[in-house]
Amino acid sequence: MDYDSDAIVIGAGLAGLTCARELIRAGYVVSVVEASDAIGGRIRTDEVDGLLLDRGFQLINPAYPEVQRALDVEALALRSFTPGAQVLTESGSFVIADPRRGGSLFGALRANVGSKFAKSRFAAYALGCAVASPHGLSQRPDVSAFEALRSAGVSTELIEKFIRPFLAGVFLEESLATSRRFMDLVLRSFVRGTPSIPARGMQSIPLQIAEGIPRESISLGVRALSIDQHTVHLTSGRHRARAIIVAVDAPGVAMLVPDLPVPQARAVTTWYHLAHVPPQSLTRGKPILVLDGRTARGPLTNSVVLSHAAPSYASHGRVLVSSSAVGLHGNVKHGDILGHLSELYATNTAGWDLVGTYEIPFALPAQDPPFSRRLPVDLGGGIFVAGDHRDTASIQGAMVSGRRVAESVTTHLGGLT
Ligand SMILES: Cc1cc2nc3c(=O)[nH]c(=O)nc-3n(C[C@H](O)[C@H](O)[C@H](O)COP(=O)(O)OP(=O)(O)OC[C@H]3O[C@@H](n4cnc5c(N)ncnc54)[C@H](O)[C@@H]3O)c2cc1C
Repeated sequence: MDYDSDAIVIGAGLAGLTCARELIRAGYVVSVVEASDAIGGRIRTDEVDGLLLDRGFQLINPAYPEVQRALDVEALALRSFTPGAQVLTESGSFVIADPRRGGSLFGALRANVGSKFAKSRFAAYALGCAVASPHGLSQRPDVSAFEALRSAGVSTELIEKFIRPFLAGVFLEESLATSRRFMDLVLRSFVRGTPSIPARGMQSIPLQIAEGIPRESISLGVRALSIDQHTVHLTSGRHRARAIIVAVDAPGVAMLVPDLPVPQARAVTTWYHLAHVPPQSLTRGKPILVLDGRTARGPLTNSVVLSHAAPSYASHGRVLVSSSAVGLHGNVKHGDILGHLSELYATNTAGWDLVGTYEIPFALPAQDPPFSRRLPVDLGGGIFVAGDHRDTASIQGAMVSGRRVAESVTTHLGGLT
């Protein structure tokens, strides 16, 4: 059979790009096809009127092992957030301090958000995750995050007022049904590194990886329709390759490889506002996550002043606020969002301008128990699958899956030559 390339990568998200770059470095001829109009997949940034609007609020943790291994972190010019969170409770707003500062975990946390004992139990739990290896964490008996926290002696009060609102924004589900193995990996990276955004937007991450791929190897606006033995049927025609790498999101996998089980989707909606207030008047100028720890919560899961962390996200010193809610909420009344923001920031938000709304039906694959950190990537017959649904629902997971596939493909191709 005549081949058009050694390998074709379907999907130019982090997994596909990482895989393609590794294979190109190993000397293979690689083609990348991407259905949308740009690379990045779920990590895209829109430039609108001097504002950088990521397609959904997300952060990169420089402590991710694959980020340290495969990215030029310095070139991303990361702008970090203040570790911890500002939590609104029935009795006021309180700051949950950085667990790594001052010796005692959550030492600055006021009594209003859980007892000292409950806080120390959570601190001990998080620190235990931080010192364990990822492999060790993924071998722990798997239960829901909620059950694991309760078994560790963390009080329901602390869970309800802080942990649930905080982790809901990470898991994109509010019941804490997510696997404790995934939670433990998340806590490990939160304790070891400070979540950040690149000065030029989150899309700088896939753009940096793509620098290692010849421009002519990437075809945008080309969708894979089906796969046969060594042949991909594309909207632009047929492509034959010795290895086919399916690096699409989980719903896309279900179309191209129907027999492969894929996790359910977790959805999120993000709103961007310009706040016409002095910057210091919101969270004292600090880029800290704002959460609602009250029993009757508003529609938002979290909010943060992005321009406090990265002024480059909003030119001319403007104040850009990113707020997200778990699920699809495109139809929610804007007045309800502004009302909730007014409570969270204790300020009048009537004049805030809505400058962007992103409703993302498939933001993350669900990570429910039983959860496996490393699913097989070689499906046989020259077909491989990469993506965050094979590893962990994260930048780390997508990148590591891309590298794992590249290693598998290298073995496969090496055997053929
Ligand atoms: C709102 C949001 C918040 C997040 N927050 C964080 C966070 O804070 N920290 C973190 O670590 N991670 C976060 N994530 C997760 C992280 O962004 C993803 O895990 C990662 O980007 C997934 O990369 P991927 O390559 O696996 O998939 P994708 O990025 O989905 O890439 C798949 C690509 O395949 C293309 N494609 C699909 N079907 C076809 C087809 N038939 N033919 C050709 N191309 C196709 C798609 O267009 C897409 O470009 C967040 C994600 C979202 C959306």
